Amino acid sequence: MAVAVAPMQLGLVFWAEKDPATHLEELKAFGLSAGQLGVPPSMDTSASLAAWKAALASHDVYFSSAVAAYEGEDYADLERVHQTVGFTAPGYASARIARTKQVSDFGAALGLKAVSCHIGFIPEDASAPLYQELIGIARELCDVCAANGQNFVLETGQESAETLLRFLGDVGRTNIKVNFDPANMVLYGSGDPLEALALLQHYVVSVHCKDGVSPTAAGQLGKEVALGDGEVDFPGFLELLHEIQYTGLLTIEREEPNVEQRTKDVELGVLRLKQWKQAIS
Ligand code: MG
Repeated sequence: MAVAVAPMQLGLVFWAEKDPATHLEELKAFGLSAGQLGVPPSMDTSASLAAWKAALASHDVYFSSAVAAYEGEDYADLERVHQTVGFTAPGYASARIARTKQVSDFGAALGLKAVSCHIGFIPEDASAPLYQELIGIARELCDVCAANGQNFVLETGQESAETLLRFLGDVGRTNIKVNFDPANMVLYGSGDPLEALALLQHYVVSVHCKDGVSPTAAGQLGKEVALGDGEVDFPGFLELLHEIQYTGLLTIEREEPNVEQRTKDVELGVLRLKQWKQAIS
């Protein structure tokens, strides 16, 4: 997978639920050759490794990270996210640490230099026991990834950028990084995406190009929409990425269950990102 990638090259994140070659052909059909490899909880990473190795050997594709998702995660509303996502919910942490190790090993065997995931809501109060517990978990996962030559990368958005920034400093590992998702800031009502990017810039190694609209009722999440149809200022986002000399991918993320609609939305995202990129001064 020694494929050269350009700064801000377009990519796509997808969940590896089909034959690897099929996924890579689909990526090519969008005109893309880069992205992130989502590892669903159901995947037997040992059994799947040979097929992924073979597929990557015969395609010019670059993946910046393996994305870990976990059994039991539910994004239905804020309360369910609090109860089920990441390492904060009681009863999930040890199984998810073990799973993250598997995903790290799987990614390393494929030459992937990062593992990314949602760690769960980081408490604002740094003296909260859960905050301290999360620091310990993040350090453990950083060390697992470091042993595999990888960054451990947190998705943004479930907390404010200020809270995340303090947490990253408190974890204090050189390989803790950020996958910046501007839409999550909108969906969770966590603050202005551009201000957050400016604050977190030194940690950002990857971004998700995803869009959304704010929640309309307390306890709800906002709604993800096609790229450019939501509240994220993408021309401004790309301009700021350029200003901070971001060199990673622009990875489109679209969690739309209707396959036909998702395909249309990804195509639209590719088109719009190309136009916005051209407009960067
Ligand atoms: Mg994301």
